[in-house]
Amino acid sequence: MNDTIIQLAYLVATALFIFSLKWMNDPATARRGVLAGVAAMVMAIAGTLFNPGILGGNYKWIALAVILGTAIGVPLSWVPLTAVPQRTALSHAFGGLAAGLVGVAEFYLMASGAHEVTKFRVGALCAEVLLGFLTFTGSLMAAGKLQEIKWIPSRPVTYSGQNFINLALLAIAIICCAMLVMNPTEYRALFPVVVFLALLFGVLLIIPIGGADMPTVIALLNSYAGLSAVAMGFMMDNKLLITAGALDGSSGLILSIIMCKAMNRSFTNVLFGAFGQVQATSAGGEKKVVRSCTPTDAAQLMEAASLVVIVPGYGMAVAQAQHRVREIYDELTDRGVSVKFAIHPVAGRMPGHMNVLLAEAEIPYDDLVEMDEINPEMPQCDVCLVIGANDVVNPAARTDKSSPIFGMPIIDADKAKAVLAIKRSMNPGFAGIENALYYNEKTLMVFGDAKAVTGEIAKHLAGDEAA
Ligand code: NDP
Repeated sequence: MNDTIIQLAYLVATALFIFSLKWMNDPATARRGVLAGVAAMVMAIAGTLFNPGILGGNYKWIALAVILGTAIGVPLSWVPLTAVPQRTALSHAFGGLAAGLVGVAEFYLMASGAHEVTKFRVGALCAEVLLGFLTFTGSLMAAGKLQEIKWIPSRPVTYSGQNFINLALLAIAIICCAMLVMNPTEYRALFPVVVFLALLFGVLLIIPIGGADMPTVIALLNSYAGLSAVAMGFMMDNKLLITAGALDGSSGLILSIIMCKAMNRSFTNVLFGAFGQVQATSAGGEKKVVRSCTPTDAAQLMEAASLVVIVPGYGMAVAQAQHRVREIYDELTDRGVSVKFAIHPVAGRMPGHMNVLLAEAEIPYDDLVEMDEINPEMPQCDVCLVIGANDVVNPAARTDKSSPIFGMPIIDADKAKAVLAIKRSMNPGFAGIENALYYNEKTLMVFGDAKAVTGEIAKHLAGDEAA
């Protein structure tokens, strides 16, 4: 009877996980997707609690784990949207740690003769432990880099022979695993070595990768955590773990491929390219002219336009300027100005970042236009308002073969008749490179925090209308 309940709960959970991923593909059904994911996880946990092995045991420890998990998990969810990538990395770290620890417990139960030992089970266990622990330390490093923690440099840390050392460590770990599969009792002492190497490999894998690539790497680590769960599923003969892990593993991989494509980068370039090192500025010391204007000038320019295209970027997210941007949108559309938002697939720090922020400010979804659709319209755009975006409007991606972002598709802001760019300084964006758009003669910089500047512009537009 218990087994029927468990299998039924697992079946429903699997279906819900699949629907959850499907629904999360579209903003209109995304909320339903999240609820389906939560329901699936509840079913999975409830089903597992019916396991006779647990039923006969002591629930006190489980209750304690649930209380502890809730106490840690709930505050962790109260992070700003800009911190979601590092928050996600922490979840993967915990997932990897859990898989790794289950593997350790199972290995010693096998070694003591309490659980059945087969070559297949030991092999799956080794894969689980290797992937779980490297995901744990790798994800912690990724979260630390994104959070810009003092002792974890977000720039790539490289040294000669680095890739060779990393691959050699991985090879040693795999050889140890192979020996454990051959004879787990005789080579028992190698198991802690595998754990140590996996933990070390996670750190070494991430240090040469720059902060700009971390979101892609986090999606990849997500996929490793999923694969580790698949291995755990094979080892424990748990079908739900296998399917849920496979869904996690494949969706993480697909997401990282989509992100690589949007940046026109290859996987090897992301993992070994040391992208994000701040480039030295041109030695010639050529004088470049920067033109700037006040928020009032910017408001007047936009009032007189027929088509305004707003390009939001990471800076808008940091400043939380989306509500002020909504006010600008309202004021301009009230005057009959056509306003559109150009959405770059990797603007901000996670896929869909801009869509979420603009949806929060209730900007009509129809006015959010994807990059490929808006670019042909850019020559007709009277004013392109760039808010805290940099790399995604950098023309070097089209023209400069030596640029690290060369080939990345961009929003053609430079093709608009005039450009207004809101940012605090002439500092580069996440790729660490200068942006010629800001020196273009049709560009006017509006220096300041995006929230403050957009607030000033909105105030001016509202004041003008009232007058
Ligand atoms: P960028 O990181 O290129 O630039 C953001 C700009 O915002 C900076 O130049 C900064 O200039 C400005 N800024 C920061 N804070 C504020 C503030 N409070 N007010 C006003 N301006 C501010 O952002 P983009 O969105 O253009 O590009 C995203 C980058 O992230 C790309 O390189 C992309 O490849 C990368 N990336 C994105 C992923 C995604 O999924 N979205 C995934 C992986 C990578 P200043 O300091 O002068 O204010």
